Order: sequence, then C-alpha cells, then structure tokens
Amino acid sequence: MNVILLGAPGAGKGTQATRIASRYNLPHISTGDIFRANINDRTEIGVLAKSYIDKGQLVPDEVTCQIVEGRLAEKDCENGYLLDGFPRTIPQAEELEKFNKIDCVINIDIDFSYLMERLCGRRVCKDCGESYHVSKLNGKTDCAKCGGELYQRKDDNPETVQSRLRVYENQTAPLIDYYTRKGVIVNVAGEGTPEEVFALIVKALDAIK
Ligand code: AMP
Repeated sequence: MNVILLGAPGAGKGTQATRIASRYNLPHISTGDIFRANINDRTEIGVLAKSYIDKGQLVPDEVTCQIVEGRLAEKDCENGYLLDGFPRTIPQAEELEKFNKIDCVINIDIDFSYLMERLCGRRVCKDCGESYHVSKLNGKTDCAKCGGELYQRKDDNPETVQSRLRVYENQTAPLIDYYTRKGVIVNVAGEGTPEEVFALIVKALDAIK
C-alpha cells in the first residue's frame, strides 16, 4: 500500500505518520526529517536545504524529487510506504506518478486558526521525533516516550511559520484538487485528539487494504 499524508504544517502529519507506519508496517518517509538529518550531518544537500528551510520556503523540486526517488528505490519500500511531507507541489506529484502508483492520499484537514499556536508551541524530541505542545509539558524538557531532549525547531517561529503557511496555501493546497480528481483522496478532520484523528485514518486505510 502506497500512502501519502497531506496537510498544512502543524496539521499533525508527523504524529499520525508514526502511528500509521507502525500499524501498517510501512516505512515512514518524511522529506523534512531527511533534510534535517542532512543539515545535522552538514552534507551538501543539508547546506542547500537549510537556506530554504530557515526562510520557510520549499527546497527546489529537482533536489527533493531526486532524494525521494532514491529512497523509494530501497528494498524496504518494495511492499509499500508512507510519504509524509511529499509531494508538496504539483510538479513533485507529477514526478512521483511517473514511477509510482499511489493507493491513498490522506488529507488532514484543519482550520488555519489552529496552526500558528500549534507550531510556535511545538517541542520535538531530538531522539525519536515525538512532538509535544509546550502548554502540556508543565516545564518538562525531556521526552515522555524515550527520555530524549526536547527542542524547538528553528522554523517553528512566528515569522517563518507565516511564510510556511503562505507556501502551503499557494503551492501545496492545490494538491487536494489534484488528488480529488484522481479519486484517491480521503479528507480527515484534524481538529480532534491524536487518537480521534488516527481512528478516522485507520477507517479510511482499512477500507482500501
Ligand atoms: P516538515 O518537517 O515536513 O515540516 O518540513 C520542513 C521543511 O523542509 C519545509 O518547510 C520545507 O522547507 C522542507 N521540505 C520538506 N518537504 C519538502 C518537499 N516535499 N518539497 C520541498 N521542501 C520540503
């Protein structure tokens, strides 16, 4: 099963992706995570990606598509995969289509008014990637799941978030129409608790399995 997880920044894609990957035994491929790992390792791709990510802009399609194409060719993707944060533009979707068949696109649909607060208050575990909201941490600075240190992503500040949301509206939201026309999209309300949103996603994925 080849699945795409679509949604605005802060819609909860990362949180849901971890759960979906574990339940359906799919490799979780997050382009954001791949870029962040490259930034940490100071690779050539990392240096390039950082210059875009820090401004809340998208990394160019050509670079992003090459990375994804390489990753999807790996053995663990043979029986399916979960893409989180890719595609983010129509050209990326068209490129993906050239070498892959998508079974389902889950679109986490959420009112924009939630996102600024969610993203600016987000803290992420350095080790396992789990996300938290600062308002629920009661001052804790380590991960409840693995004990790793929590940090604030550099692009989770008000100015960069504004830019990311604008980019989402202009470049990524058109994918909703694109996949609706192809008849593969399922829209899921993203305002509930992570458990409620996950239950809706499971219902959708079980129906196409
Ligand atoms: P994310 O972790 O998915 O929020 O991604 C963090 C940042 O990585 C985004 O704001 C973009 O700058 C970059 N990025 C992630 N995925 C893509 C993509 N598919 N195309 C272009 N840039 C991306």
